[in-house]
Amino acid sequence: MKIKKITISTVTIPLNTTFKTALRSVSVMENVLVCVHTECGLTGLGGAAPTPVISGETTRSIQGAVEHIAEYITGMDVLATEQLLTRLNQCMVGNSAAKSAVDMAIYDILGKYRQTSVSGLLGGITGSIETDITISLNPVQQMAEEAERKAAEGFSILKIKVGGEPKQDLARLTAISRAAGDDVLLRLDANQGWSPKQAVWVGREIERQNLPVELMEQPVAAGDTAGLKFVRDHVAMPVYADESVFSPQDAMELLGRNAVDGINIKLPKCGGIYNAVKIAALAESAGVPCMVGSMMESAVSVSAAAHFAASRAVVQKYDLDAPLFCSFQPVPGGISYDGPAVHLPEGPGLGLEPDGKI
Ligand code: MG
Repeated sequence: MKIKKITISTVTIPLNTTFKTALRSVSVMENVLVCVHTECGLTGLGGAAPTPVISGETTRSIQGAVEHIAEYITGMDVLATEQLLTRLNQCMVGNSAAKSAVDMAIYDILGKYRQTSVSGLLGGITGSIETDITISLNPVQQMAEEAERKAAEGFSILKIKVGGEPKQDLARLTAISRAAGDDVLLRLDANQGWSPKQAVWVGREIERQNLPVELMEQPVAAGDTAGLKFVRDHVAMPVYADESVFSPQDAMELLGRNAVDGINIKLPKCGGIYNAVKIAALAESAGVPCMVGSMMESAVSVSAAAHFAASRAVVQKYDLDAPLFCSFQPVPGGISYDGPAVHLPEGPGLGLEPDGKI
């Protein structure tokens, strides 16, 4: 089943509400959609969104990288999957989102060929996935009102974007917790916004005030492993790495140094499912649970993330709300939502149902 060609299209999707973190503010999302065509007629779909402040990739760099990858893997056999995905990973450094788009399209083809979903292909399906919903970094009152709305919609886990001035962040958390009610858990994501000491101060204040915070994600700069470990060693709540872990090698480094309590795996950081499986295996071996998240992406690529997440026992937390921010989906099918419940599609592969335009 040889790869015949790889085609690329780009779609612009306005967001329902502006997405704001300590790193960026986004109101329109661009998605690069990738279609891998085989000689036998089976096709696979994948997608990637530019996140220059996290992976360094832009729309045009993703397009260029996919074209480069296509030069290296066109003519290769999808069923010789190990050789194919090794070539995909070795034909250029970096460009993890571009690699991920091609990687998930290959898994989509494999699932269709084997007549099973990608999660089935990877080894199994958990019963259900419940996603959190993100509350963007805004003034205190605005965040509290948004938290109240989302709790009323049935979301029981809110991902709170922090990473601003620590006292302000604490005020945000106090107000959000009060507004959302007792049954709602908060996940904090500082997106590298704090110094290690600031993170410890906030963490200890949260503990002192007994706020319902489940975990703290990426409190400090991505490259600051010592700082991450300092935070982990000085607060009681679990500390998760996000931007600090792109590759399996990053995961191995952090796990070896006992620097984290958990890892947020995202396909566009690690280059797709092939490497996500490796990170999950490393974390599981170290006794460390994982979350699966996404960038601000459409349901095309988040469906791939959901299939991967559903296939691994070590993945215990889900941060797959990005499609809920999209004003429309570029391709029918894929995952669907019922409040916080994420439903995997029934069909083979990723379960996307392109209408022929891609
Ligand atoms: Mg994060």
